Amino acid sequence: MLQPSDHVVIVGAGFGGWRLVEALRRDGYDGAITLLGEETYAPYDRPPLSKHVLAGKWDVERATLATPERLAASNVTLRLGVRAIGLDIEANSVELEDGSRIDGTHIVIATGARARRLPFSADDEILTLRNRDDELRMRHELKRLDEGGVVAVIGGGFIGAEVATQLKSRGFVPIVLEAALRPLIGVLGPDVSSWLEHLAADAQIELRNDQRIRDVERDADEFVIRFDDADDLRAALVVVGAGALPNFEWLEGSGLTLDNGVVVDENLLAREHIAAIGDVARFSWPNVMGEELVRIEHWEVANVHANALAHYWMTGEGAAALMVPYFWSDQYGKKIQMLGHARPDDDVVRVSGSPEEGKWLALYSRGGVVTGIVTLSQPRALMLSKHLLESPSTLEGALSDAPWTR
Ligand SMILES: Cc1cc2nc3c(=O)[nH]c(=O)nc-3n(C[C@H](O)[C@H](O)[C@H](O)COP(=O)(O)OP(=O)(O)OC[C@H]3O[C@@H](n4cnc5c(N)ncnc54)[C@H](O)[C@@H]3O)c2cc1C
Repeated sequence: MLQPSDHVVIVGAGFGGWRLVEALRRDGYDGAITLLGEETYAPYDRPPLSKHVLAGKWDVERATLATPERLAASNVTLRLGVRAIGLDIEANSVELEDGSRIDGTHIVIATGARARRLPFSADDEILTLRNRDDELRMRHELKRLDEGGVVAVIGGGFIGAEVATQLKSRGFVPIVLEAALRPLIGVLGPDVSSWLEHLAADAQIELRNDQRIRDVERDADEFVIRFDDADDLRAALVVVGAGALPNFEWLEGSGLTLDNGVVVDENLLAREHIAAIGDVARFSWPNVMGEELVRIEHWEVANVHANALAHYWMTGEGAAALMVPYFWSDQYGKKIQMLGHARPDDDVVRVSGSPEEGKWLALYSRGGVVTGIVTLSQPRALMLSKHLLESPSTLEGALSDAPWTR
């Protein structure tokens, strides 16, 4: 258990790192905490970047989590603009890019993920949206764009759809270029993705599926998107939303197990005093189907991780209840929400509403056991059904009980 004489060093001053500071203090830890991160901004929330901030409704400062008052109250040593480049797991010592080291009794890896870039010729001039510097660059680029300017959004997943939605609301003309047969088919499966496909058209946003982009080039004042099998598309701006990659390369050679993330146990530990949380953590997740190693890039998962790790280090108790991952996405004027971490090939049954009504709720199941719940614009019904994932529930039982109707 953590003692007042301990020193917790958190690498990565993003959402999960900051949430851990708050959770440790809330749970009564009054020893030293150092939170260090490579960005120069105090910890902030990322979801608003592709929503209220991009829509122009929020000043980006409003997304700041670690406000001066909260920082002072949390009594944390915040070191910004410093990049960790190595970890000595015997000495619990973090090596920094400037050649210095910082030693702790406990180390937490919270280095999140970065936007995946694609190998296009014009890559340097193509935008992504993962952090505040990206937002700043996007704001700057959009300023020089006329209303009605065409923005090619490569990738129709969560970020791409959200970016397209906000750009449209600001008078630009986004064209979403999706490589798959439908957006989100690889995440939510063929049925659910088919019920969502019409959302872009309803929002009067052009969505082109099954696109094979050969390259994106830049000429004097425009981007030219070249396809294997279609005419070129010209755009004033190009944004790529092609997923994220976990930031764990700095740990190579440390002796920790790295495999699509930092591999940790069900208490988020890689070693007794070394943990990983949030987007970078590939954690052992006890769930309704047993236990599996997963890495989940959801805000709420980083939040649950921070709370669970603080609790474990303060009490020695692991989480009693099964964690139910949750995410939401605001796209094309609608809200998609999901509980659980279903696989795209799980069985799906829609139990209320329909795409025509613009709201519905569906259950995923595997071997007759409910593995996930997804909804379009039925938030209350979703939360009424959450218990189906807190312990194993049969699909048959769920259908007869129908908690979403209450
Ligand atoms: C635009 C956007 C919209 C999103 N919208 C949603 C949403 O609607 N719903 C949802 O569920 N989730 C959403 N997410 C995902 C959610 O924000 C993440 O799951 C969450 O931020 C994860 O927290 P984290 O602490 O693991 O990583 P992060 O918040 O990414 O923080 C990691 C920090 O570590 C720093 N770092 C990396 N490497 C190093 C290093 N070597 N040394 C020092 N520091 C380092 C990074 O710079 C970063 O500041 C969104 C994400 C983005 C980018």
